[in-house]
Amino acid sequence: MDLIKNAIRDIPDFPKPGILFKDITPLLSSAEAFKETINVLTSRYADKKIDMVLGVEARGFIFGAALAHALGAGLAVIRKPGKLPYKTYEKKYTLEYGEDAIQIHQDACQAGQRVLLIDDVLATGGTMGAAISLVKENFEVELVEVSFVIELDFLNGKDQLQGVPSYSLVHY
Ligand code: AMP
Repeated sequence: MDLIKNAIRDIPDFPKPGILFKDITPLLSSAEAFKETINVLTSRYADKKIDMVLGVEARGFIFGAALAHALGAGLAVIRKPGKLPYKTYEKKYTLEYGEDAIQIHQDACQAGQRVLLIDDVLATGGTMGAAISLVKENFEVELVEVSFVIELDFLNGKDQLQGVPSYSLVHY
């Protein structure tokens, strides 16, 4: 896990003052660290019969795609409004200032499938909380777990995950 943690770069005051941004690009560019990240996740879910991995825009796509491939599962994407071309379901959620929304294609999942949600960082949990609602409200699937590469423990994002089990590789 040190290999992974050492490959995450802190960028102070990005994208605005006071935010310590966890930059995962050094992790992605390190063949060893990226492989280790996907290997740890793959081992965790290998026997969980995951049918679909749902990646949350945008960095969730990167880890989600590699993990889905390794698990032999499908991949679907949860995106900001206006990005998905087919019929969508939408969930609005509140931010510190104002509102945002996420969407998913209406045929992204089939009833009865076992589903895993993934994003790069669990911060306040607003985004993943909305993603969980989006899935629960529109699909009769089994939400096996939500997964993150990084969890910022001090923001208590877990409180927004509606009791769905969660797993994070590294914690700060
Ligand atoms: P939140 O909804 O607050 O849990 O934020 C989650 C989303 O914002 C994730 O998709 C992250 O990519 C991004 N994010 C939030 N805080 C950070 C941070 N400190 N460093 C990197 N990404 C972050």
